[in-house]
Amino acid sequence: MASPYSLDVVIPCYNEEENLPHTIPVLNDFLANLVSREDLALAGFRMILVDDGSSDRTWQQIEDFTKEIGATGLKLSRNYGHQNAMLAGLSVADADVVVTIDSDLQDDINAIVEMLKAHEAGAELALGVRRSRGRDSFFKKNTAKGYYGLMKLMGAQIVPDHADFRLMSQKALKALLAHEETNLFLRGIIPSLGFKTEVIRYDRQSREHGETKYTLRKMLSLAVNGVTSFSAAPLRFVAGLGITVFLLSMLLAFWFLMERLFVSKSTVPGWASTVLPMLWLGGLQIFCMGIIGEYVGKIYLEVKRRPRFIVDKVV
Ligand code: UDP
Ligand code: MG
Repeated sequence: MASPYSLDVVIPCYNEEENLPHTIPVLNDFLANLVSREDLALAGFRMILVDDGSSDRTWQQIEDFTKEIGATGLKLSRNYGHQNAMLAGLSVADADVVVTIDSDLQDDINAIVEMLKAHEAGAELALGVRRSRGRDSFFKKNTAKGYYGLMKLMGAQIVPDHADFRLMSQKALKALLAHEETNLFLRGIIPSLGFKTEVIRYDRQSREHGETKYTLRKMLSLAVNGVTSFSAAPLRFVAGLGITVFLLSMLLAFWFLMERLFVSKSTVPGWASTVLPMLWLGGLQIFCMGIIGEYVGKIYLEVKRRPRFIVDKVV
């Protein structure tokens, strides 16, 4: 039997007033039950609720829960996004193990039992992987699929269908928080930490209350961030394309010259052959500059060493 350990559960919440009155009691009862289980060495737990700058009653609800059930509440000064809200919660987690879970309970809480068992068997990381996605829309399922495919293509080491439902030991958490970059891409960094890792499969449920807080804009920004913080593949692709175009145009110039000298000696106005390549190359150059700009922008943000989140209150 493993020696007793404590658990912190980090829950990012953004405008979740419709979910919290259900989620918190359910999770609280579930975790309390785990503590009393004979087959687990869990000694105690704490919920860390992070309000990611909600504009509804989320923070009032969190404050009430901290009084009722002794959870910890963290209010961020504005909306920093899911990933940073989670990091804010993780930065105050000091238990032996930490689990992160969304506040809509789309992820099956029963998988936490398997995660704890994996930890007791020596795993430092237990990653929740979606076996199925409930009634997620066709759009959501396919954008997710495309996203994981793209990440793989770009050489980022991610675990397909693993989002942010996972267990980390305090050791793994320390290693994670030692990464000081501002754009911390958790789904890429965590699998790359090494350590003994278990994969826990579960069926993802549909969202019962409220709308998804991941707008298309937030999803796109997560995808771009994932690619650019993990791989220079787009840059290499651009460089290769540039060289190829350059060599081809040299060949073309050579060919035109030969034709002019040895085949037809009449001068052709050649408007199309001048203007079209110019336009084409111009477009290509702008495209390349856009991609390079993405990286430059990233460097710009990194060198500033801005904090990833600012905590307003702790209760
Ligand atoms: N969330 C957050 N900040 C945001 C967006 C989302 O803290 O800017 C939280 C949200 O409250 C939820 C979790 O992140 O607990 C996942 O969001 P959601 O369920 O909307 O994403 P989906 O399951 O649709 O991918
Ligand atoms: Mg959700």
